Amino acid sequence: MIPRVRIAHLPTPIEPLPRLSAALGDVRLWVKRDDQTGLGGGGNKTRKLEYVLAEAQANGARTLITVGAAQSNHCRQTAALAARFGLDCILVLSGDETQLYSGNLLLDRLFGAEVVWSAYANRDATLRTTFETAWERGRRPFLIPLGASTPTGTLGYVTAFEEFAAQGLEADWIVVASSSAGTQAGLVLGARRVGWNGKILGVSIDQPADELQPRVAELASQAADRLGDARRIAPVDVRVNDEYLGAGYGVLSPAEVDTLRLFARHEGLPLDPVYTVRAAAAMIDLIRRSFFTAGSRILFWHTGGTPALFADAYRDLLSQ
Ligand SMILES: *Cc1c(COP(=O)(O)O)cnc(C)c1O
Repeated sequence: MIPRVRIAHLPTPIEPLPRLSAALGDVRLWVKRDDQTGLGGGGNKTRKLEYVLAEAQANGARTLITVGAAQSNHCRQTAALAARFGLDCILVLSGDETQLYSGNLLLDRLFGAEVVWSAYANRDATLRTTFETAWERGRRPFLIPLGASTPTGTLGYVTAFEEFAAQGLEADWIVVASSSAGTQAGLVLGARRVGWNGKILGVSIDQPADELQPRVAELASQAADRLGDARRIAPVDVRVNDEYLGAGYGVLSPAEVDTLRLFARHEGLPLDPVYTVRAAAAMIDLIRRSFFTAGSRILFWHTGGTPALFADAYRDLLSQ
């Protein structure tokens, strides 16, 4: 057994989206509520962190160090986890002191995390020096890479797929936002291991498919290794759509703003302004372009991130 801390509220529910389905036409939609995993506002990183924290504990960690965007959901969940387990937390975030403390960043501070700002281009170097300094000061740091997308963290989504399979929903497709690759990698491997015959579509948030596919495949294969499973996942086994990158990470397109409102006003369901909105807008566009065959049963895997809706940067756009 691979060690795991139990902290998430599991299983997360699967809910039908009847009003949204009717509005979109000939598809049936469900949502898997991984925005409700519980830890410090919830989201997909909680599942990965259950495994990563166990690894950190085995290493005698007293300080968790991780990295991300200023409005990183991963950093916010890591900060909450550190507080919950009495560890220190240092976040290396891209941006500078002029960032307003709103959304996830406000929660980071509330959870007691120390923030180290870095220009995006220097982030890896800043992360290394932050780690070395913490080590020299005897703080027993443990480094969690971007998005907790390590082979160990990926196991969180292998078990998430097993959880989904046990919930017994018959679906033809899963649509999920994909960025640091661990979520999709775990789902793809989990689907293989249980012999699921549906399809998983990762909607790329911030990179071309020919970069994301090999990343997902490699992580999935490494996670299989951790499980003593000889399966190998190849890039061709990984479906990624990169047609919705728009103006870049965190920049909402008009179609994405419409999608936020569509989910909110038909189902009372908030998406986040970076990840799930991009995946949902892609799904809706693909439905309208008849990418899915008529009558398809589609599960939208909600990966969380809703605290970012309260980031200052989105206030003017979303309050209209
Ligand atoms: C991190 C994140 C993702 C992407 O998951 P990866 O495992 O990094 O691909 C999707 N949605 C939300 C809300 C996230 O915070």
